[in-house]
Amino acid sequence: MSGVLVIGAGGVGSVAVHKMAMCPEVFLHITLASRRIGKCEAIAASVKHRTGVTIATAELDADDVAATAALIEAVKPRLVVNLALPYQDLAIMEACLKAGVNYLDTANYEPRDEARFAYHWQWAYRERFRAEGLMALLGCGFDPGVTSVFTGHVRKHLLDRIDSLDILDCNGGDNGLPFATNFNPEINIREVTAPSRHWEKGEWVEGPALAQKQVFDFEEVGPRNMYLMYHEELESLARFYPEIKRIRFWMTFGESYLRHLEVLGNVGMTRIDPVMFEGREIIPLQFLKAILPEPSSLGAVTRGKTNIGVIATGEKNGQPRTVYVFNICDHETANAETGNQAVSYTTGVPAMIGAALMLTGQWRGAGVFNIEQLNPDPFMDQLKRYGLPWQVKEMPAPLAF
Ligand code: NDP
Repeated sequence: MSGVLVIGAGGVGSVAVHKMAMCPEVFLHITLASRRIGKCEAIAASVKHRTGVTIATAELDADDVAATAALIEAVKPRLVVNLALPYQDLAIMEACLKAGVNYLDTANYEPRDEARFAYHWQWAYRERFRAEGLMALLGCGFDPGVTSVFTGHVRKHLLDRIDSLDILDCNGGDNGLPFATNFNPEINIREVTAPSRHWEKGEWVEGPALAQKQVFDFEEVGPRNMYLMYHEELESLARFYPEIKRIRFWMTFGESYLRHLEVLGNVGMTRIDPVMFEGREIIPLQFLKAILPEPSSLGAVTRGKTNIGVIATGEKNGQPRTVYVFNICDHETANAETGNQAVSYTTGVPAMIGAALMLTGQWRGAGVFNIEQLNPDPFMDQLKRYGLPWQVKEMPAPLAF
């Protein structure tokens, strides 16, 4: 019982298993399972070629709890890392409980028929995991994930109190394609087209999607338009850091991406309700996903950098202070190491680090945890060690907007 079972053979799953294979002292046995065995085998071949490590593969429909529990019982991992889609979260958590194994994911549960991601469905599992002495770790990607740990680091080491927090997610990369999403297109488009929402003085403030824009000059990327959005870590940060009066999330988008999205929305291609086509029901957004490039295919064509971090304003030793903690990741460097672009890399590496901290017992507990509830220090150390170095910058003043 010393191995890990990774479910989901997309861009994020690919990065995670490559990085796990590079850390054999922790990950003694790696199994990659996904809906299509061919994708697992292609990743296994790349892992073998790049690292010399052999990983096992399996075909699995993770919506099927009994099949997932049976695979866990056959593989006997100490941890299941869920890098499939948010729709599978509850089924995989059920299977983990059934088979008596720990759980980790990077995105919170979302029902298929409603674009409404939220934590309450997974938080409801807390007592069941606690009763079994098992640990479930939620949101261990970059955002949520690293940005939540950055917030914990700020609160532990840089500020005595945080008053406002802004999460800034910039992808300055260019893949040369007119329209391609850098993580699962269906999940990405559901997220981007949802109304904006931020936390202000104990309440959620809602607005239309992509209506509020600011320009920010990102280090090593340059000035970019970023848009106020709802993002899942706002919910857990507001819960676990009740002192923070305002929490906002901003993401950059290029003109071409937004223009395509608007047209696709106008013609109904982003709808998630079924429509009849040639005698059978199809979901327009799922059809669109099928014809868009897979995120895992963008590694070789993406140039530029991501820059993602948090700006926190508060007080240190009675004095006002604003700090900016961020990571810059280069698409081409990420691709050279694992064959995947930086958005998959910045999600797969934190998943691997969270898994390593759980397997080595540095992060332990019984119940369901969000990443910001755990000690940020070992995670911050390992980010530097495993390819996501971070920087802290003193800001002369709080954000002016
Ligand atoms: P992909 O679509 O590239 O990969 C998802 C994989 O899961 C695919 O291989 C897919 O199979 C597989 N899968 C889907 N349904 C099932 C099922 N029922 N059973 C087994 N396997 C299944 O997505 P990404 O790799 O880009 O993203 C993976 C996850 O990471 C998503 O949940 C995404 O939301 C999350 N994410 C989190 C981020 C963060 O910072 N926290 C950032 C980016 C992503 P198939 O190939 O057959 O479709």
